[in-house]
Amino acid sequence: MQRRGFLQGLTLAVLGSTLVKTAQAAQAMAMKDIEAMQKNWRALLAANFKAPAPTEPLKLSNDEWRKRLDKAQFNVLREEGTERAGTSPLNAEKRPGVFACAGCDLPLFTSEMKYESGTGWPSFFTTIPGVFATKKDYLLFAPRIEYHCVRCGGHHGHVFEDGPVPTRQRWCNNGVALKFIPKGA
Ligand SMILES: [Zn+2]
Repeated sequence: MQRRGFLQGLTLAVLGSTLVKTAQAAQAMAMKDIEAMQKNWRALLAANFKAPAPTEPLKLSNDEWRKRLDKAQFNVLREEGTERAGTSPLNAEKRPGVFACAGCDLPLFTSEMKYESGTGWPSFFTTIPGVFATKKDYLLFAPRIEYHCVRCGGHHGHVFEDGPVPTRQRWCNNGVALKFIPKGA
């Protein structure tokens, strides 16, 4: 009986280490995929869309922002508001394309970077590189990482560490702060 138990244990240990190795290989490959997504994001950009660069800042006064944005957009982008969960039509958006900043048109995410987090807000596991700056905020009890568009400073959402592997990031974005540009547009 004891010997059988030992053999079973050995089999499980071998099986376990094989599974770990397989998982590591899968993860390494997926990180490569993420890097490729970040590098080749323009492949999902509509041909007629003139994307600004993150290095061309857009600075407007509050009055100018009020004219440019609707009330809900102004509340989120300029006042760090949060839209009600489950209200954004972009939750269900699954077409190939690019999600740009509703304030300044800077492309932020591609459709490949989006996933269903079940939170009621459009969620992404990575971003187009160099488009966000972050800060810690204390609006709730625990500190959270707030992120905003580098071009116009508009608030977009918060980033958490409970996303899917391999990045484990969840960029939880207000839908009103985004505009979706379908690739075929
Ligand atoms: Zn912006």
